Amino acid sequence: MEKDFRSVKKTIYPTRSIRTRSQCHSRRSYFHQLPPELLYMVLDKLSLLELSVFSLVSKEMNRSIMDYISTKAWKSKIIIQNHSAWFGKDFANRAKRQFRDLGLLFKRCSMLLPAKEKFRFIFSQLSKIQCFVLGQCLFPGCSGFACYGVLLQTLTAQWDEPECQRVINFLLEQTNLLQKMEAVVTAKAEVRGDQELQLRCFCRKVLLDPWISQPQCQFWLMQLLKPWPMVSQARLLFIFYGPLTPEGTLGWEDVVDRGLTVQALCDLARAFLLLFCKRDYKVWTTNSMLAILEELIVIPQPWHMENVARLLVLCGDSLCYTVLASKALNGRLTEVSRIIVYIILVHERDRFNMAAVVKLVLQISRIFSTPTERFFFIQKMEDMFSEITREFYEMSVRGNQQDNREAFQKLCVLLDSSARFHTTLFLQFTT
Ligand SMILES: [Zn+2]
Repeated sequence: MEKDFRSVKKTIYPTRSIRTRSQCHSRRSYFHQLPPELLYMVLDKLSLLELSVFSLVSKEMNRSIMDYISTKAWKSKIIIQNHSAWFGKDFANRAKRQFRDLGLLFKRCSMLLPAKEKFRFIFSQLSKIQCFVLGQCLFPGCSGFACYGVLLQTLTAQWDEPECQRVINFLLEQTNLLQKMEAVVTAKAEVRGDQELQLRCFCRKVLLDPWISQPQCQFWLMQLLKPWPMVSQARLLFIFYGPLTPEGTLGWEDVVDRGLTVQALCDLARAFLLLFCKRDYKVWTTNSMLAILEELIVIPQPWHMENVARLLVLCGDSLCYTVLASKALNGRLTEVSRIIVYIILVHERDRFNMAAVVKLVLQISRIFSTPTERFFFIQKMEDMFSEITREFYEMSVRGNQQDNREAFQKLCVLLDSSARFHTTLFLQFTT
């Protein structure tokens, strides 16, 4: 319940009922002999950071500051009034600093409360901020979510996993986030374009991006994904980290139609690396990760092979090997060969080290137990080189002049990449 300066009632917080004799005889502090209005005038002069430190002085002062920051006047002054417009870089930086201090104040003030009361107190303080509510603020340049993220990060820093788990449960309940996610993942891709972007913006800025260090970001991402079946997890990963079009919408069609740049796919690769690097959560195994990746690269339709190859390259040698080895062991050699040829092409285009692909191919060849099987794999890969060369040639002689030129350039890159790959492979056996 909100309070006003003029009608301040003391909030009752859990206290110890047994007091020692010295506590019974101790006199009230100087500050607590003041009427609340006067004490509030003193507190009014303190910065958020100073208030947070002051709240640690004693239980009595902690309670007084809790009462003070629960007043309507304080909330209007600090939280609502100053943030009627959330735009501009200078404002964003200033606001982020202020919300970092606010997070610290809430954290220190509420440290004596039980978990549920603590979260209720903190989130009720923020409930009037429209720019913190998913779907309420439609201005693309608004820094509200980023400020919310900074506050949440400050609040939960150094908390253990069960406590962070309670925060996310409380947050999911307060924001109806699961229902909103369900509405988005069950709709056809692009049907709910605006909701997808709002969800991406909220989850990235509030829950995921503030964590620069890996474990926390991984923890929050897993909490968002784990209630869903694999196909929905793949879709959510795309919504959170997938490439955007120049117009700012999600690039569902772009991943299918044409090869995208490293920049467009690097966020998605980063998310996979995050999930892949620690698999001791019960819900995540290597097989489930591979299954999510399989689902991802066919949403909304099978991706352009160059994007599949580039995503695997960006995910790093270990994950790339695991994916291809798993497919090879399942007898999907045509698919493996096609992906490898495109990985070689991507290495040539993006100027990556070709020795890494040679190492990858040799590693995969070793999973076959007999020389005949290894020969069959290498032969399959070389046949695929010929097949893709023919495909590129056919593309370069049909269509309009612009398309022909692009296809011809691609053909040249493929021939160059083939030469560089085979030279590097040959060097492996001659040095
Ligand atoms: Zn806003």
